[in-house]
Amino acid sequence: MKKLNMRAVYLALVFILVIAVLSFLIGFLYSERTSEQDSIMPEIEEESTTEPPSTTAPLLTESVLVDPSVTPADTTSANILENENIVPLPEAVTIKINEDTWYLTLVNDYYKMPEDYEVISAPAIPGCQYELDYRVAEAYTAMYNAAAAEGLYLTPYSGLRSYERQTINYNNKIQQYLNQGYNETDARALAAMVIKPPGCSEHNLGLAMDIIDTADNFYTTEEYAWLMENAADYGFILRYPQDKQYITRVEYEPWHWRYVGVEHAHAMKASGLCLEEYLQTINMMPTPLAEG
Ligand SMILES: [Zn+2]
Repeated sequence: MKKLNMRAVYLALVFILVIAVLSFLIGFLYSERTSEQDSIMPEIEEESTTEPPSTTAPLLTESVLVDPSVTPADTTSANILENENIVPLPEAVTIKINEDTWYLTLVNDYYKMPEDYEVISAPAIPGCQYELDYRVAEAYTAMYNAAAAEGLYLTPYSGLRSYERQTINYNNKIQQYLNQGYNETDARALAAMVIKPPGCSEHNLGLAMDIIDTADNFYTTEEYAWLMENAADYGFILRYPQDKQYITRVEYEPWHWRYVGVEHAHAMKASGLCLEEYLQTINMMPTPLAEG
């Protein structure tokens, strides 16, 4: 009886061992197969991705972030040259500026301000040669003082710009691209990614300030870090983020800060939406002047 039991236990142990070895082998073979499939899957997915433009396909490559020593002009031409399909500049629609929601006015390649719109301006900070819409200047001064109290100076570099000045700047930019051998259509489209056509720039409305200078490596400064943290408290947003270039049709501009009011600045910061996306979600896209 005892001997038989021992034998049964021994057989059972051998049986369990065989099962364990078999299941290990099956498991190993199966995982080899699935990992092979996994490595094939991403390639197939990437190829089948056709629409819409994703955040991984900005107008510029990441080289702006990787190599801050490259000058803005160099990165611009280098990256734009890589972009073989230059989207033609659309015909911008003149919009109505609503005095109740002036701070949410959207101008870009699709929408432009009326040429006769008069901006009531004031120095961005007292005694400064650069001006802003007087209501924005008040907010800018408050922001400037708050940063200055921490030893950081958000020195104005370019604020309100006249229609005439914008026309000259834009035409000069177009000429640069024509000189590089681009045709008129492409030159206009490429120029607009750097300098907006007259009436399409937030600088023409006095709603935006370029801070300190227009260097690509501004994003590495303490002032930039401060702005990312605090600008919303004063109603300002980073208008042209790195990952929204396919929507804004503007290069990443870490120096360009736009006023939208405190409430909307916080909402945009929290949501991560750029102005075009945000205005769509709150149903505040511009009204054409003809319809208004
Ligand atoms: Zn600017």
